Amino acid sequence: MSAPYLGRCFCGDIRYRVTQEPITYYLCHCTECQQRTGSAFALSLWVRRASLEVLAGEPSKYVVGPEGGKTKTACYCARCTARLWGEPAAAPDLAIVQPGTLDQPTGLEPVAHIWTRSAQPWFVFPPDAVKYEVQPPDMAELALLWQRRNPTSG
Ligand SMILES: [Zn+2]
Ligand SMILES: [Zn+2]
Repeated sequence: MSAPYLGRCFCGDIRYRVTQEPITYYLCHCTECQQRTGSAFALSLWVRRASLEVLAGEPSKYVVGPEGGKTKTACYCARCTARLWGEPAAAPDLAIVQPGTLDQPTGLEPVAHIWTRSAQPWFVFPPDAVKYEVQPPDMAELALLWQRRNPTSG
């Protein structure tokens, strides 16, 4: 797996691609992510916003937050409502892609689990998982973990 990564919403109205390697990829077990996704955790694939290109359709946007003091714009498909990525207001260079919308999400693997304190009790962590009980003190740590795991990316 290497860039570009192609993705689309559930109905296919919106198609996009990521032209550079991701910055990091992690799993968040916080209660806000659980509620937002209607699931047990959220997957977050960080990419450079400049590397994210819309190929077809136009994502709808709504402003989320402030959640934990942070505001972001969620980009989603107005027709099928699939969320595609988020654009944090405080980090204009960053987009956080929902990796389940990639055509081939299986080639990428999260490097860490955050907010494990609120993980569902039945969730089984991989034996070598890197875990943070709450928010990591510095998200750059997750980018470093990603670089170590994927030395050719960057
Ligand atoms: Zn759609
Ligand atoms: Zn979260």
